[in-house]
Formats: sequence, C-alpha cells, structure tokens
Amino acid sequence: MNPLAYLGEQLDAWRAEGTLQRLRVLESECAPLARFDGRDVINLASNNYLGLTTHPLLLEAALEATRRYGVGSGAVRTISGTMSLHVELEEKIARFKNVEGCVVFQSGFTANAGTVSAILGPEDHIVSDALNHASIIDGCRLSRAKIHVYAHKDVAQAEEKLAAASQAGGRVLLISDGVFSMDGDIGPLPKLVELAERYGAIMMVDDAHASGVLGRNGRGTVDHFGLHGRVQIQVGTLSKAIGALGGYVCGSRDLIEFLHQRGRPFLFSTSHPPAVAATCIAAFDVLEQEPQRIGQLWENTRYFKEQLTKEGFDTGVSETPITPVMVGEAAAAHAFSAALFEEGVLATGIGFPTVPKGKARVRTIVTATHTREHLDRALEAFRRAGRKLGLLAA
Ligand SMILES: *Cc1c(COP(=O)(O)O)cnc(C)c1O
Repeated sequence: MNPLAYLGEQLDAWRAEGTLQRLRVLESECAPLARFDGRDVINLASNNYLGLTTHPLLLEAALEATRRYGVGSGAVRTISGTMSLHVELEEKIARFKNVEGCVVFQSGFTANAGTVSAILGPEDHIVSDALNHASIIDGCRLSRAKIHVYAHKDVAQAEEKLAAASQAGGRVLLISDGVFSMDGDIGPLPKLVELAERYGAIMMVDDAHASGVLGRNGRGTVDHFGLHGRVQIQVGTLSKAIGALGGYVCGSRDLIEFLHQRGRPFLFSTSHPPAVAATCIAAFDVLEQEPQRIGQLWENTRYFKEQLTKEGFDTGVSETPITPVMVGEAAAAHAFSAALFEEGVLATGIGFPTVPKGKARVRTIVTATHTREHLDRALEAFRRAGRKLGLLAA
C-alpha cells in the first residue's frame, strides 16, 4: 500500500481536466527572446520589467562580489551571516525609499509572511483585500490574528471591517497589494490610507509589482500617490524588476529592529549570497541613472494593451504592464497558452486556484527591452491563436 497514492489520483484528475501545470524549462538567459523547451519564443511571461536580469553592470557586480567574498554567507543574519554588502544594500534601499530603515529578506514571500506573523498575535485583527498575494495570506494565518477579508478594492467594505475590528480590541492591520499580480490593477491606496488613519490601523502595502515600475525611478505606489510618511510598512521585491532575488521591508527604525529580533525567516534561514546583494545594489544605481528604462516599459505597455484591445481581446482591469487576456475556463486558458507557444510566444495560462473559477486568463507582461518588432510578432501570434481557439471572430 502506498500511503501517498491519493496524490497520484489527484494529479490524474487535474490531467483529465486539462489544468495540470507543466513546467516550461528556460534554456537561455531570461530575455525578451528566450529559449524554452528547445524553442526560441518571445517571452511575455517574466517579471523582468526593466531587463535587469542581463544588465552588464549587474553581472559585473555579481562576479566581482563572488570573487571577493565567495559564493555564500555561511550563516543566518543573526548568527554571523550579516555581511557588509547586506548592510550596504539595506542602507541604499532606505535612502531610495526615503524611510528610516530597511531589512532585506530572502524573498518577497518571506518578507510578507515574516513581517505580518511577527508583528501581530491572536488578539489582533487584519483587514485584507480578497486578491492579496498568497504570501500575505500565509503571513496572516501564521500570525493567528483574526482575518477580515474585504471584496477586491471595495473601500466601503474595508471601512465596515475596520470599524468592527477597531471596536473589538487588539491591534488592527490594513493590508493591500500596491499592484495586483494577476489583474494588473492598482490598489486604492489614498482611500485606504485615510481609513487606516481614521481607525488607528497600521497600514501595510506589498509593492512587489510596483517596485521599479511605479513612482519616481520606480519607488513604488507610496511615491506614485504621494503618501510618504503615511504607510508604516512597505514591502518590495528584489526578484522582479530588480532582476535578482529577495524581498525588503521599509519603515521606522523600530519596525526594522523588531524584525531583526522576531522575523522568523530573518532569524532561521541563511542570508543571500554576496552576488545577490551586490547585484541588487547595482540595480538601485541603474534605477537612478537609467530612468529611460521605465519610460520604455510604459511606452511598450501602452502600445501592447492598445493593440490587444483593438484586436478584440478583453484585457480586464489592468492599469500596469501586467496585462491579462481573459479567457474564462482554466482548460481554455491553458489551451490558448499552448497555441500561443506553437505560434512562438510564451504567455502563461493561469486558472484556479491562482485566480477565481471562471476568470482564467493568459497573463502577459511586456518589458522595457521588448522591441516594437517583438511586440508586433507577439500580436500576430495572439491573432492567429485567438482565431484558432474561437476567442476572436475568424
Ligand atoms: C511575486 C510577489 C511576491 C513574492 O515576491 P518574491 O520575491 O518572488 O518572493 C509578493 N507579493 C506579490 C504581490 C507578488 O506578486
């Protein structure tokens, strides 16, 4: 008897439904034109917004740090794994974001989960957007605080939940993604911040998809909306536009020092290799010195969205480079993604449980380094695959 037999049965069921995820294997560097599964395709499936994964200054920084400091840090941050490069990166990010302090985690996921679980306990309350990222949800669960979910971007409902929570005793955290990762829409931060202030709640924003994308030089949604000093906790990622790996938390000196004491991934998981820290330091220089990359990202976004809409595709509620093409059922989204791959484009099909049932889509993200020719070829592939699958009139 195989006690794990049920896993195979579940996999067979997903296979029969057409919703089993297959892993595409990237055999080149992550670039606008990349080789997946032996095929050169236009890559519309990365979070490499600014093309920094292959930026020469970042490559050089990584190599130099490796030569000088080796490939690993040797310990968790609190034992002996805090290297001068880690401190330099945190100071750099804090200056960039104009906040008192910053702490870097191994990933955006651990930054969210580690922070929420550290600062709240069972007596506390969390008011959270229904479409917040999985790492926020896990952090909320780990904190054992009471979780109150409001409908996506529904500020009135958020207020009801905040009002009730603030009567119940305990601390209250109001938390939202800055940019929502599956729909590409922007959180209603000015209104949420006002509510947090009215009810005395802590305001926290997860800017994973806004870091390097929105705000001056990519400073994120707090900068985009001019909310400086009014959001107590800002999370960003180093794994998307920054091009490497990691997550960071920005806020007051006390918040950062508290996370040094109680942030579990910080305490119990080894810090980044020197190459990663050095890469990220160089990336923040690039954000300051090459703002034209962000300009090009938004120009490409505008063009690609406009053309998709003109073709008759439904791009949902996107306001950012994340542009979903809505399909409906998960199996259809996966079939559309497969047809696009045949036409030379990688765009991932996304279905339940990542997005609600019936709202499956193919998600695209253009980057600053896609050329107009790449985008036109991709649009042609969308036309052909869309007709083949009956998403567009023949
Ligand atoms: C990608 C993502 C994260 C996780 O970031 P990683 O650095 O990849 O772990 C967190 N929040 C949101 C909204 C994201 O899209």
